Amino acid sequence: MIQFNFDHRFVNELPGDASGAQHSRATPGLCWAAVNPTPVKQPALQAYSIEVADLLDLSRDNIHSADFLAAFSGNCLLPGMTPYATCYGGHQFGHWAGQLGDGRAISLGEVINQRGERYELQLKGAGMTPYSRRADGRAVLRSSIREFLCSEAMHHLGIPGTRALCLIATGDNVMRDMFYDGNAKFEPGAIVCRVAPSFTRFGHFEILASRGEHDLLKKLINFTISRDFPQIDIQSPDGYAQWFKQICESTAHLVVEWLRVGFVHGVMNTDNMSILGLTIDYGPYGWTDNFDPGWTPNTTDHEWRRYCLAQQPPVARWNLEKLAEALAPVFPSQTMLAAGLAHFDATLQSKLTTMLAAKFGLLAWRDEDTDLVESIFELMQRAEVDMTEFFRALADIKQAAPELAVLENAFYSSTLYRNHSALFEAWLARYAARLTLQQDTDDARSSRMNAVNPRFILRNYLSQQAIDTAMNGDMSMLERLMEAARHPYDEHIPADLIAKRPDWAINKPGCSTLSCSS
Ligand code: AMP
Ligand code: MG
Repeated sequence: MIQFNFDHRFVNELPGDASGAQHSRATPGLCWAAVNPTPVKQPALQAYSIEVADLLDLSRDNIHSADFLAAFSGNCLLPGMTPYATCYGGHQFGHWAGQLGDGRAISLGEVINQRGERYELQLKGAGMTPYSRRADGRAVLRSSIREFLCSEAMHHLGIPGTRALCLIATGDNVMRDMFYDGNAKFEPGAIVCRVAPSFTRFGHFEILASRGEHDLLKKLINFTISRDFPQIDIQSPDGYAQWFKQICESTAHLVVEWLRVGFVHGVMNTDNMSILGLTIDYGPYGWTDNFDPGWTPNTTDHEWRRYCLAQQPPVARWNLEKLAEALAPVFPSQTMLAAGLAHFDATLQSKLTTMLAAKFGLLAWRDEDTDLVESIFELMQRAEVDMTEFFRALADIKQAAPELAVLENAFYSSTLYRNHSALFEAWLARYAARLTLQQDTDDARSSRMNAVNPRFILRNYLSQQAIDTAMNGDMSMLERLMEAARHPYDEHIPADLIAKRPDWAINKPGCSTLSCSS
């Protein structure tokens, strides 16, 4: 029997509706509503993360037990579980959207593991909650595979994010209009169990401010500091200031980390922003293949590109401004909030240059490096160069004899390679000259670069292959991707998993861009 040590602080310390009623409704004055998962027809465990199981003190036997399957498919509760959905709002694509909430996420409770760490367990796709509005509370297998894989891939890349314990097929069908073109069809349903120290979002604070519920807002802030930021002394006069500053800092860190690997979240609405600076809500995300600052995987955002690769830092700041506006009524002084935002700007700048220096193998950043780096990014964009491939190849460049041929495989088009070769050669000469200014060796630089520039990224076309095969009951590709994702900086990864995006994938749905349908 699986026995978790539960400590349900969110429901014990914040007001909620314990009735368990499932129907859609507004929940003013409350932070959560109790709701049971809706049972599914024929649950089947499709995949799990042994690393996350370890965090929760679960053995492989536990994971393969009937209890586990029943509990994590939402068909029964383990002793001590208290399922609930939380209330939040958000700014979506720049506009206030009102109450949103966990429409298809149901938390099972907060577990304290043997090391004393807190992890909340949350089922995504477990049925309707009071926050489902007109939707069904379910998730399809394809989007659940993407969430499961990416949660773990981000972790192994060293990027903060929510984790995923397991992926369970429900045996029920779910109706989705994948292309938003009026052709809805049934797809297999699935549930992912997400795991994080906290699923609190900017939107949890925004909804209370929007309702003028200032006492509750204060209560939620104090609760969040006490549970999720224990290093902050809440009694100290600048406790709130430190808290907001820390949110700004971890958010800056997060977007710089996304840029490091070319990750685009795709839907950076304030309801998808974690108070701990975790990557949260894996929807139409992706990695830029050919380097393109304006690229977004989200087809819904193709016109405005609000959430494209290069917009992520300014959008993160805009989201922090919305959070600051929500916090303002209960903050002792507005300068605390302004100071936090200024800290975001400063942190972003310093983390960006540190990150770029590391990517290029520079031991320290000099002002002139801005031009060196900007000019290669501009060239990479014009010549359609694969970002991931480029940085791994750049690590192999010899300072004494830089050869363009080393970079050739990073180009998608041989014509563009030929047409830009003189420009790239000129840039490589500049780069080699820059390298002579530091005490270094080719080998040392190469191993430093390979520790920050991944060899393996979870390209959308690869995930789509895992999805296509999983739809036929074959989980082998998903398992291969999980294994590669565990060692993303290793040189030795099966060749087919590190290949640049093939031409057939450019326009195939799911292989480059995606809709929000999930
Ligand atoms: P997302 O775009 O996935 O971040 O979701 C935005 C909001 O819509 C959140 O409040 C979700 O809980 C809700 N939502 C998305 N899909 C569903 C669904 N199938 N059923 C219920 N709520 C959903
Ligand atoms: Mg969301």
